[in-house]
Amino acid sequence: MAEIRAKLVMLGLLAEGEGAELLDPAGALFDEATDRAVRAFQQQRGISVDGQVGSRTYHALEEARWRLGDRILFFVPARLMAGDDVAALQQRLLDMGFDCGRVDGLFGVETEQALRDFQRNIGVVADGTCGPATFKALAQLSRTVVGGRPHAMRDSEAINRAGPALAGKLLIIDPGHGGPAPGAEPGVLDEGELVYDLASRIEGRLTATGASAFLTRGPDGSPQGPSEEDRASFANAAGADLLLSLHVNRHASTAASGVATYYYGSDEFGHYSMVGEKLADLVQREVCARTDLVDCRVHAKNWDLLRRTRMPAVRVEVGYLTNPGDALRLADPAFRDVLAEAVAAAVQRLYLPEDADAQTGALRIPEWLRA
Ligand SMILES: [Zn+2]
Repeated sequence: MAEIRAKLVMLGLLAEGEGAELLDPAGALFDEATDRAVRAFQQQRGISVDGQVGSRTYHALEEARWRLGDRILFFVPARLMAGDDVAALQQRLLDMGFDCGRVDGLFGVETEQALRDFQRNIGVVADGTCGPATFKALAQLSRTVVGGRPHAMRDSEAINRAGPALAGKLLIIDPGHGGPAPGAEPGVLDEGELVYDLASRIEGRLTATGASAFLTRGPDGSPQGPSEEDRASFANAAGADLLLSLHVNRHASTAASGVATYYYGSDEFGHYSMVGEKLADLVQREVCARTDLVDCRVHAKNWDLLRRTRMPAVRVEVGYLTNPGDALRLADPAFRDVLAEAVAAAVQRLYLPEDADAQTGALRIPEWLRA
């Protein structure tokens, strides 16, 4: 508790000494000030605001305390160094024109490569380690690139270079959760079965275009399945061009319904995947144009799977199993076919040059293949 309060004080969200004397002797209870500070922090970081310091919030607090120069940064393949200092380093490198991919606060192989390039440029030993000599150089150099979003532009250039055709692309389809959800009714498809079925339908359509598609799990995924981190590592190791994660939502209220799509973005780091957003937007529009699911729009999230994947990635939540109308639709194989067609059309449109792009809802895959 004391550790968490200290971090909140350091982040300027809690006044020194505030709340401390109100804690019970075991330190198990939050006082009001600490609760407020935790909620403010969760809000800032795009974490669900519940005032609880669960593992997600705890890790975010841990990452937030690092300032550039606090510690030596380097590439650790097994467990990437993570923190605001890494994000600050990435931002500086990008601002100076060294391509480290994106600002995600994770010291990966691209960050190391960009750092080596930078070190070579300034005549420091190019060891890929951000230590005292590099900190000094970074502090002395003023920003050489002002304005614009060079990293966002690189993001879309990579897609342009990949060409308009889907043939030869490597696509990863992630049937989100596996195994029956607690309380699922027997005989009714659960989320794991539904998203696996949907993934297979999408896979069939995309491989018909000459792309390769892999699923992140088999039909009998356990309720836990591989972690988001493992799924991201799998997609990264495969060198995938794109990742689609499929989920079905649940809510305590049966009234909640509709489809929403998510892409990587962090308000804290001020960075958003431009291609991710474009794909999310296409998926959302295609699904809404072809079905009567409620449009719950696209949203930027820094969830692990979106953040740790090196390629554009989106997560789509196609309806709520807890909503009778959505559940009825999802139970119909013909409806799942329409969903699969919508998602596949969105992927195709991402790779079509602007002048060849189709109207939303109009692209039919067999026709597109003949063209
Ligand atoms: Zn899910």
